[in-house]
Amino acid sequence: LWEKCLNEIKKEIKPQLFKTWFQDLKVVSLESNTLKLKAKDRIVKEYLEKHYLPLIKEIAAKEFRKYVDVEILLPEEAHKPLQPELNLFKGLPKKKEIESNLNPRYTFENFVVGSSNQFAHAAAMAVAENPGRSYNPLFIYGGVGLGKTHLMQAIGNFIKRMMPSKTVVYVTTESFMNELIDALRNDRMVQFREKYRTVDVLLVDDIQFISGKDRTQIEFFHTFNALYDAGKQIVLTSDRPPKDIPTLTDRLRSRFEWGLIADIQPPDFETRIAILRRKAEAEGIDVDDNVLKLIATIIKSNIRQLEGALIKLKAKASLEGRPIDEELVRDMFSIDSSVKVENPTRSDLPIDEIKELVCKKFDVTIEQIESSSRKKQIALARQVAMYLARKVGNYSFPKIAAAFNRNDHTTVMHAVSKIEDLRETNQELNQIILELEERLNAIISRT
Ligand code: ADP
Ligand code: MG
Repeated sequence: LWEKCLNEIKKEIKPQLFKTWFQDLKVVSLESNTLKLKAKDRIVKEYLEKHYLPLIKEIAAKEFRKYVDVEILLPEEAHKPLQPELNLFKGLPKKKEIESNLNPRYTFENFVVGSSNQFAHAAAMAVAENPGRSYNPLFIYGGVGLGKTHLMQAIGNFIKRMMPSKTVVYVTTESFMNELIDALRNDRMVQFREKYRTVDVLLVDDIQFISGKDRTQIEFFHTFNALYDAGKQIVLTSDRPPKDIPTLTDRLRSRFEWGLIADIQPPDFETRIAILRRKAEAEGIDVDDNVLKLIATIIKSNIRQLEGALIKLKAKASLEGRPIDEELVRDMFSIDSSVKVENPTRSDLPIDEIKELVCKKFDVTIEQIESSSRKKQIALARQVAMYLARKVGNYSFPKIAAAFNRNDHTTVMHAVSKIEDLRETNQELNQIILELEERLNAIISRT
């Protein structure tokens, strides 16, 4: 890649200048987004720094498809630090090529970040930028189709691109197990161990399937230790946290918890729309926002299904020669027009503001409505606040429950339907709510 950069630079400047300043410029390393170059001497270094740093950065960013910082070193500086990258390129015999098994489609660039996966995404980025040195192991868990495999492979693809000399291996727990059985049967354990204990980054998908597989657990335990002790990165995914994986030996369970555990939740409405929009663009499907909103209303959790719906829709439209519109979506999912498009959460109306307003009106404190007190006035204020968070703020039931320190979101559902009923029978309360609604809507239009 650096050769390519040089070629690009060559096109930009006079041949004589290129010869003088760039000819002997060598790559030392590319790690953590910093490209280190080695200049012949101090004069070259200082001249380049003064005149060419922006150009080098710009071209490097284009070639590496990522912002990179550029540092120019002197020969003596370049030699002294440990530079495994350089050594591998030069002296040592080339490592045997190991198949990474990565799908190039799964990148950070293609991953839509929302509140449901923000934490896991940040953790994955940290690991990718500093393999073996930030969180080890990284354990990502969450339900089916929520992006675990995507994030894990994004780590692998990123490292392969930015640190080409590092070996990355992605393997599903099932393949790991099958390879192990094969190796045991054919007397190839030496090769098996050589493969898995010498990688720089090991990505093991769906580790929950190791449950009940005693021999695999033993082997993986030793693989884990060898890699961990050598400072190599391990990333694991699972559909549940380590403590909930049955028949997992304690020593493995505790190792899974040594690093960082990050969960992925089902995407909220906004994130579902963003994912659909991204997918539609990628597939060159021209769809209206209302269509995307309707799909996001129907499919709530599985992102694979969300993407699948869009593809099916495209196929159905072209087969039947119809436009991609709400009617087509309704036909495809056999739902009638009584299913209404969901509205996005009013993130411009924080639940805290709703609480504040309601508390003032009902003359209670925020602590009281967040508590579990059942006093009549407090309980009523709490229920009204929940109702407004749902009806005006469009917050999801679980989100509202969390905002009121409730574990169970059915409490919120109950509160909402109770207030709905009360509004019919209690004119005084209805008036109060009308007034509150008006003020909340004013807050929204103010922002
Ligand atoms: P899991 O491994 O958790 O079952 P996957 O990683 O296989 O889920 O994701 C299912 C599909 O959804 C994949 O095609 C993936 O690219 C896509 N996907 C998941 N999360 C996102 C996201 N945040 N942004 C874009 N695409 C996503
Ligand atoms: Mg998966």
